[in-house]
Amino acid sequence: MEVGGLYLIIGNSIAAISAVEALRKIDPNGSITIVTKEGEPAYSPVLTPNYIAGELPLERLYLREKAFYRDRGVKVIYNDAAVKVYTDKKEVLLESGALLEYDRLLIATGGRPRPAVFPGAALRGVSVLRSLRDAAEIRRYAQGKKDAVILGGGPISMRSAWALRKLGLRVSLIISSSRLLSRLVDEEVAQLLEEALLREGGYRIYKNCDLLAARGEERVERVELNTGESIPAQLIVVGKGVIANKELVEGTEIAAGKGILTDDRMETSSPGVYAAGDVAQAYDRVRKENLVNAIWPAAFAQGKVAGSNMGGGNKTFAGTVPMNVLEVGGEALAVIGVRTEEAVSLKAEGSLKKIYLGDNRITGAAFLGNLQGIGLLHTLIRNEVTLDRLPSPERLLENPEYCRLLGGYRRREAG
Ligand SMILES: Cc1cc2nc3c(=O)[nH]c(=O)nc-3n(C[C@H](O)[C@H](O)[C@H](O)COP(=O)(O)OP(=O)(O)OC[C@H]3O[C@@H](n4cnc5c(N)ncnc54)[C@H](O)[C@@H]3O)c2cc1C
Repeated sequence: MEVGGLYLIIGNSIAAISAVEALRKIDPNGSITIVTKEGEPAYSPVLTPNYIAGELPLERLYLREKAFYRDRGVKVIYNDAAVKVYTDKKEVLLESGALLEYDRLLIATGGRPRPAVFPGAALRGVSVLRSLRDAAEIRRYAQGKKDAVILGGGPISMRSAWALRKLGLRVSLIISSSRLLSRLVDEEVAQLLEEALLREGGYRIYKNCDLLAARGEERVERVELNTGESIPAQLIVVGKGVIANKELVEGTEIAAGKGILTDDRMETSSPGVYAAGDVAQAYDRVRKENLVNAIWPAAFAQGKVAGSNMGGGNKTFAGTVPMNVLEVGGEALAVIGVRTEEAVSLKAEGSLKKIYLGDNRITGAAFLGNLQGIGLLHTLIRNEVTLDRLPSPERLLENPEYCRLLGGYRRREAG
């Protein structure tokens, strides 16, 4: 394949960074330009809650050392956004009016939180958490405040709740479903998580309800729920899900669903245009279809494949195994793969381990309190090891020593 050597990357987070690293290994000389709407070098959104909590200084959030771009000859255009892709002319229009040419394009624009839509959403103190700027604003605004409301019960909401609790605020979680982390965990795990939060103290959980309005003069002072309750709140963090930033391909030949559709080379339906990270709808190895899996490891792996192929490589993306690891109420929680009705569990003092089964395989796992053995399960799910080749799920759960016995799977995968 002929390689053009004029590379354009839209977005500057983990998918973009891993693409640059892979691309430079293949093409040391091509011209690489990154366009980002932000004014910062790449940072980790994953660590923003730790920054809000005061546990990490700002500098620790940056993904690479300061000289990263310069050392790799990457030009970065800060504070400008790509607004349109012209695949016929191989050009990208920026908000500033500039037109940038490309031979190979990577769209790594990530996702954004679903916006807050309720009366009072424009009051000061109502925020979402995605960018470093959001995190800095939440941290600043939270100083001296007493009550926070978190709208939503997904992983980012749980991380936001954790951060604000660390800052000493009382946190009320408003959840429209019947349980915490409803997309990730089953009733039993959710119940234990709720108990852990209540044990830790400082949390109130409102389930099966919605926020009707935020009230206050200029600044939010309280929220009203559809149950008739009114809760004091000087700060609201809205976490109602993530939407892919895919608008710039609308009206082009680049096919999109919930995200931009990619093949196993992370290439879109337009040759020479790639997508990676939270904006990409890529292969999910467990569900066996193309989905948006808005998680860090997927963005990293997809960026690497896209970057390599942009430079003329021939890498394939093996597919995402969904994975979430977080702390809830002081307890470590890891959820991988997909939940089914068929579950085997092991309950011990302070921990619950569950394996989900289907189609003669382990499809998923949820470990709470003790994560020993979760890495093995990830490997077994990833490699689609059939149950007849394994000890029974009960024995797997009872004896994490199988990690060692089955280490061959890991070695094979790494090799
Ligand atoms: C608070 C929080 C906690 C999280 N915790 C975890 C976790 O524990 N584990 C986990 O796996 N994942 C977690 N995630 C998700 C993880 O951060 C994302 O999966 C990952 O950052 C995706 O990387 P990305 O490169 O696709 O894009 P993003 O990190 O979303 O970055 C995209 C970049 O593109 C820029 N951009 C967007 N549109 C344009 C445009 N038109 N022109 C120019 N620039 C543009 C954006 O400003 C942004 O800088 C968390 C996310 C948040 C917000």
